[in-house]
Amino acid sequence: MRAWESNIRRVTPYTPGEQPKKTGIIKLNTNENPYPPAPGVERALRETDAGRMRLYPDPTASVLVEAVAKNKDLRPEQIFVGVGSDDVLAMCFLTFFNGAKPILFPDITYSFYDVWADVFRIPYETPALDENFDIDPRDYYRENGGVIFPNPNAPTGVECPQEAIEDILRHNQDVIVIVDEAYVDFGAASALPLLKKYDNLIVVQTFSKSRSLAGMRIGFAMANPELIRYLNDVKYSFNSYTMDQTALALGVASIEDTAYFETTTARIAATRERTKKRLSELGFSFRDSRSNFIFATHKSCPAKELFDALRAQDIYVRYFPKPRIDNYLRITVGTDEEMDIFLEFLKNYLR
Ligand code: PMP
Repeated sequence: MRAWESNIRRVTPYTPGEQPKKTGIIKLNTNENPYPPAPGVERALRETDAGRMRLYPDPTASVLVEAVAKNKDLRPEQIFVGVGSDDVLAMCFLTFFNGAKPILFPDITYSFYDVWADVFRIPYETPALDENFDIDPRDYYRENGGVIFPNPNAPTGVECPQEAIEDILRHNQDVIVIVDEAYVDFGAASALPLLKKYDNLIVVQTFSKSRSLAGMRIGFAMANPELIRYLNDVKYSFNSYTMDQTALALGVASIEDTAYFETTTARIAATRERTKKRLSELGFSFRDSRSNFIFATHKSCPAKELFDALRAQDIYVRYFPKPRIDNYLRITVGTDEEMDIFLEFLKNYLR
């Protein structure tokens, strides 16, 4: 071994879903929105001025912070924006999970959490979801260095009831509790109203799913101003200019169009409900997803086999070869037309 090798920060990185280069595929594998962003986003993009790119962007991202604050009925001091919610969550781990006690998150959850914990050398424990993939709040009564979970959970799509979230908060007032609401806009209840009551709560959301801007990388955290200040201190100790000028302009255009947001999220929820019904008829079972994906298992056909068969037809879904979930497929809700092709294939394959 060469001497410098012992100085390396070794990590096992997160594996993002596949982004195939070829066109004409049906892409239901990374929970992207099948609809384009709000029309104002394209206008804002056309108006971007290449000449201005010689200047650094506003490090405080104030136009976007203010637009998000207005949309959420919060004060700008309560908003922190980042390069997708992955960036926001990574900053939260670095800022708030700096104690010696293990942080807690469910055994089946967003597979980036253990990666951040490892890269930042944060100890963690993963209380098991019950057999229905529900969180038992009592698992979070123990001493810990912080709590994080998505709501709805990923990759299960299961919503954690508000009483359970508040129960977890009530028992964890000495640590920071983060609710990752990447998928909340497709029909689940946000923990945002609890911000008034719990000053240790952070709610994180993203423009990637419900606002069709995964490619632009915009996410945000909402919390009391003191926590936002700590987050900004760490951000400014890392990279002052996280949000580029284009992201700022497009983010503002996106969040200002509430009507478009409501129409497209409702359309996806309607397609999800229709898809659920057809999947049940085909012998699949799943929990009642409140997100833009369905986490389903088939009564007789193994998930890996289905995954491969779908892929051979250029229909991409996500498969996780992990304990407890290796017989499930996570199927992103696409357009009605895409879901029809997907369901038609399954109907013939499973015959
Ligand atoms: N949280 C959860 C639960 C997710 O599934 C994702 C998407 N991979 C993210 C956060 C991050 O999304 P983004 O960085 O695009 O905002």
